[in-house]
Amino acid sequence: MNKMKQEGKNNKLISEAQIEEYEKKLYDYGQLIEISKSLCSVLEFSTLIESILYTCMCQMRVLGAGMFVLKSFDSDCFTLDNNYSGFDPDTELEYTIPTSHPLISYLCETNQAYTIDELESNLDKTVLLKQISSLNPSLVVPLKLKNHLNGVLLLGDRIMLDDENCYYTDYERDQIIKIASLASIAINNASLIEQTTTDMMTHLKLKHYFFTVLAEKLDFCALNKMPISVLMLDIDFFKKFNDTYGHACGDFVLQKVSKTIFESIRGQDLAGRYGGEEFVVMLYNTDADAAMMVAERIRKNIAEQELIYENNKMSLTISIGVSVFDGYNSVNAKDLVELADRALYQSKENGRNRVTLADENTPPPTKK
Ligand code: GH3
Ligand code: MG
Ligand code: MG
Repeated sequence: MNKMKQEGKNNKLISEAQIEEYEKKLYDYGQLIEISKSLCSVLEFSTLIESILYTCMCQMRVLGAGMFVLKSFDSDCFTLDNNYSGFDPDTELEYTIPTSHPLISYLCETNQAYTIDELESNLDKTVLLKQISSLNPSLVVPLKLKNHLNGVLLLGDRIMLDDENCYYTDYERDQIIKIASLASIAINNASLIEQTTTDMMTHLKLKHYFFTVLAEKLDFCALNKMPISVLMLDIDFFKKFNDTYGHACGDFVLQKVSKTIFESIRGQDLAGRYGGEEFVVMLYNTDADAAMMVAERIRKNIAEQELIYENNKMSLTISIGVSVFDGYNSVNAKDLVELADRALYQSKENGRNRVTLADENTPPPTKK
């Protein structure tokens, strides 16, 4: 069998092994283009992290992966994202790395992938965080963009055939750094979207983004005969917090309420800050009964939570209006929100601190 092939005019011979190597490289470049296409088309942050982890697990043949990311553009530490798999974090430990930590600058400067042993021998022992070493990753990979780290990827145990060793070759390390740099661009894009669609103070979505998503989900649900509910929420007598304790107290109350709303809904729902002290929530694939339960839970959680501002114990309630798209009677996003707003107005009229479900008898508001 002829193991050598002729290449071009200069008659240089290359071996079949070299051809195989070139073919593998070409295949890997093709893979990088596909990865780039798929990651750059995901703009929702959590979904993006999930797909980066999944991509890395497939490409590097590892059983799990996790990533430390900045939870918001103004955070001063990297936090282990919930989408990890194959790791078993200690519930007692807080999995965060300050952005000022020497490990972060080391990974950013070198932009290389390391095993835990390598990090231990290259760095001062104190530098290597328990939060990383205790997870026992097979490789630690920086996600660098320009001069900036967008995350730290941890790879889990490798899937190996009996006769293979589990070390990463230089080629594999180079490949994962390439994937990490593509992932870093995608994370950067997603954070830019996040910044321009999020209210800085409450970290809830802005109104225009809420409407965009609601319209999109309504189309999908109409097609698939699925219900969607909308809650409009307004803090009762909010002005008194500003007037009694100052504007900073009002801001504190807004942040508390936003957090309670956010923690009372699921990942597929969406909460937005509609205006000053008004909020709006989309409950995906949720009918009237379930929506009323969620709204009642939010109302109760807010009314029962202990609210102390500068040693002053304060009481806080919220009024809610609920509207429902049943999956059949077509309605647009604006009208559905308007209907919830009218039901909210009824809650105010009837004494506040209550939930009202809109129906065909819900009157238009007489004043706002
Ligand atoms: P109601 O029960 O009828 O809703 O009464 P309310 O006092 O909650 O409503 P009103 O509309 O009279 O007052 C809302 C106030 O919210 C007026 C505005 O100054 C204040 N506000 C709006 N945005 C902010 C903000 O970002 N921070 C603070 N601290 N106050 C805000
Ligand atoms: Mg209001
Ligand atoms: Mg109000």
